[in-house]
Amino acid sequence: TTTPETRKFEAEVAQVLHLVTHSLYSHKEIFLRELVSNASDACDKLRFEAIAQPDLLAGAGELHIDVSADREARTVTIRDTGIGMSRDEVVENIGSIASSGTRRFLEAMGSEQKADARLIGQFGVGFYSAFVVADRVTVLTRRADAPAGEGVKWESDGRGEYTLEAVELPERGTTVVLHLKDGEDEFLEPWTLRSLITKYSDHVAFPIRMPKDAPGANAGADANAGTDGEAGAQEAETATAAAPAWETVNDASALWTRPKAEIGDEEYQNFYKALGHDFNDAAAWTHNRVEGSQSFTTLLYLPSQPPFDLMMGGRDERKGLKLYIKRVFIMDAAEELLPNYLRFVRGVVDADDLPLNVSREILQHNRQLERIRGACVKRVLDLIEKLSRDEPAKFDAFLKAFGNTLKEGIVEDAGNRERIAKLLRFSSTKGAGEARDVSLDDYVGRMQEGQDAIWYVTADGHRAAAGSPQLEAFKARDIEVLLMSDRIDEWMLGHLREYAGKPMKHVAKGELPMDEAEKQKLADAAGAAAPLLERIKRLLGERVEDVRVSARLTDSPSCLAMSEWEMAPHLARLLRDAGQ
Ligand code: ADP
Ligand code: MG
Repeated sequence: TTTPETRKFEAEVAQVLHLVTHSLYSHKEIFLRELVSNASDACDKLRFEAIAQPDLLAGAGELHIDVSADREARTVTIRDTGIGMSRDEVVENIGSIASSGTRRFLEAMGSEQKADARLIGQFGVGFYSAFVVADRVTVLTRRADAPAGEGVKWESDGRGEYTLEAVELPERGTTVVLHLKDGEDEFLEPWTLRSLITKYSDHVAFPIRMPKDAPGANAGADANAGTDGEAGAQEAETATAAAPAWETVNDASALWTRPKAEIGDEEYQNFYKALGHDFNDAAAWTHNRVEGSQSFTTLLYLPSQPPFDLMMGGRDERKGLKLYIKRVFIMDAAEELLPNYLRFVRGVVDADDLPLNVSREILQHNRQLERIRGACVKRVLDLIEKLSRDEPAKFDAFLKAFGNTLKEGIVEDAGNRERIAKLLRFSSTKGAGEARDVSLDDYVGRMQEGQDAIWYVTADGHRAAAGSPQLEAFKARDIEVLLMSDRIDEWMLGHLREYAGKPMKHVAKGELPMDEAEKQKLADAAGAAAPLLERIKRLLGERVEDVRVSARLTDSPSCLAMSEWEMAPHLARLLRDAGQ
């Protein structure tokens, strides 16, 4: 009794579709990972809602995901028995772009018109990857708490419009049917689909099933007769004896629940890639089980490349650290589980002792969670330390990607300040050019006799820092100076007042180390130059506080200096730029 309603995509969706289909082409097979990941999310959501409403699970049986191909119809079908969507949800979730992350993505990519494929999955544009291989996509979905009459059929060719139609769906969950483009027939091969599942989705914690050994390529269509993508096709399975048999093709166990010794590096890496929507390997990971009054498991990864969000300085959508309670996915809880300066960490925390019905509000003031959070921070810092000791090349790359983020920890996490400071690397007058290769321990280890401070200079760029006239006196005395030129350094240094018991001092502030003879020489010079100083002071008037003879300079005739309490020029400039 209903006619399909035709609607237009939001302008931004059309833009995303265009970008995704063009830029993902070289990684087109990830459509399967993205759709299976959505199916898995939908199963997670249903399991979570069923904690409060167990009867939601009635009907379609256990939670699982079925993947099949129909050679004749040239379709690939992904079906899940998860939460499903109402009509409004379909419109909201796949007809428009709700996430601000996606908007930022568009802003960043808009100018270049070519998105980096590895970024796509992180932006909630996963579903649209279907259009990389399909020229028509049909979604049939029914929310778990809605009656059979409230099914929804959504269909689009991905070119600006979609249709919506009410349909009768006997079972809850979502079926996505991809009508393959010409030339994409490889995805009709069960073998191809199967190996993609193994590659990208092995550790999805729900069974992923495929029709059992479809005998011969063409007979495959028979075996799939019941799954041509139309609604409720799976009843065939129980209703008739000739129904296709399904077999589970993934591991379907939650990786983090297995003993470490049984898990290979490749399994850890594959799990990371699925979790982080990343194409790159993780740099390192740490997997731990804590038993005791409070038991929990953590599996935490350091990425090797900065995720897009981090590069954009985005803070509002922190994804990729998932909280499970007794293996039930509860929510993305990066903010609850780790401080901001460790926001690059990806992983899973599975707690045994939290109540299943926790809300975000409860989590924010939960003592048990605080303890877990403390353990996560410790694990991550241990992991970074280990990387710095054992794998210098990887550690270098890690710092390049995340060093400046880590510096925020100096300000944010006073309790771990010294530990974090130890991990940082700086360029220095004794390092190799611009490279950030000197640790504070290196510095302290080669301090001059009698030197009582760690000296640094700050500037807008490395060349300005390295060329600062303030350094002359230090060079003459062979005293090392750290060259700070990252935007965040000034802010960080405001909180890093000392390291290993040595004060950190800006070269333009504080007294130079001098012996008695030097002090005498300086006093004599000041006496001789008194008339000149008076004259300069008169000329500069209000603009300076004082004019003094200095031991700081060797080649330059003069420089600007600051008193102890004054802002560094670089910071003053930053604040001025910010309108302060
Ligand atoms: P993301 O998964 O990052 O949110 P996607 O583009 O992959 O972004 O999916 C967009 C939204 O569409 C999902 O957040 C979800 O609300 C909805 N969705 C997609 N696939 C399914 C599905 N199989 N079952 C239920 N909802 C789905
Ligand atoms: Mg998704």
